[in-house]
Amino acid sequence: MSAAKIIDGKSFAADLRGRVAHVVGGLKDDPGLTPGLAVVLVGDDPASRVYVKNKGLQTVEVGMASFEHRLAADTPESDLLAVIKNLNTDATVHGILVQLPLPDHINENKVLSAINPDKDVDGFHLLNVGRLWTGGESLVPCTPYGCLMMLKNQLGDLTGKRALILGRSNIVGKPMAALLLQESCTVSIAHSRTVDLPDRCREADILVAAVGRPLMVQGDWIKPGATVIDVGINRIAAPERGAGKTRLVGDVDFASAAEVAGAITPVPGGVGPMTIACLLRNTVVAACRQAGVDQPGL
Ligand code: NDP
Repeated sequence: MSAAKIIDGKSFAADLRGRVAHVVGGLKDDPGLTPGLAVVLVGDDPASRVYVKNKGLQTVEVGMASFEHRLAADTPESDLLAVIKNLNTDATVHGILVQLPLPDHINENKVLSAINPDKDVDGFHLLNVGRLWTGGESLVPCTPYGCLMMLKNQLGDLTGKRALILGRSNIVGKPMAALLLQESCTVSIAHSRTVDLPDRCREADILVAAVGRPLMVQGDWIKPGATVIDVGINRIAAPERGAGKTRLVGDVDFASAAEVAGAITPVPGGVGPMTIACLLRNTVVAACRQAGVDQPGL
């Protein structure tokens, strides 16, 4: 029997999308602004195709303009940079997202650095990374921002909480740490070289798992009552569903963790849905800043 509150990311994301749609409606009325999001996909990775399709659908659903640029897998880097250059100066485009990963022949850092930082709705441009760590006005990576929103909704003021981030990637672990530091948490970052990892996890009031290792975090790694955010998305074999079937699981063993935690996000239905909702939120924020309109309280 689960003791923990299940944090419903799906309904949280639906609520955020509703608020984004409301703001977009207001912007269309006054000052006549339609926020626009351009997504660039290079190649035909099936998972990326699904993400891009979902992003486009949800962008339109909240009333924004959606622009998709699909380029062949062998597109030269210079052609991709030319597409970004055009989007940077296109007044109808307020947010630009280049779907990662990119094919091996393209330098990811060079591409991300080419995006106008004011339109960098993924928050991966070095200027936005620097602003995030120094407390400036930045665009913040979507997945950690979604985690932060759910944490604040669950716990209110985060001041003084001990937070452990499991994973130190540039897209999840590090920006998550920066955001929780801004909230005055006492933040630790753990990774593959961390010693006594279960003990470190047991010290945390807030545990964010972003490792990409299915079901790694066990219930007895968790401090009783802690809030657990499971970012991991891992596909594993599910023979109980039939031969060749698979299912999605997080980095946390949900069944045992839910016995101990105070609150926990499920996989699927936790962090995942929040990521696109935060992308839409970032696009509206970027559009308002570019148009010199008061920023919405999203
Ligand atoms: P990365 O592979 O870039 O980073 C994984 C991190 O986990 C690294 O810092 C690595 O340490 C650490 N790690 C790996 N194995 C261990 C271990 N055994 N013990 C401790 N630490 C370990 O992954 P991402 O940050 O990109 O993604 C993490 C997970 O989140 C994935 O499952 C991904 O699919 C998911 N994800 C979900 C999103 C969503 O929308 N819900 C969005 C983005 C990611 P080291 O640095 O030492 O190698």
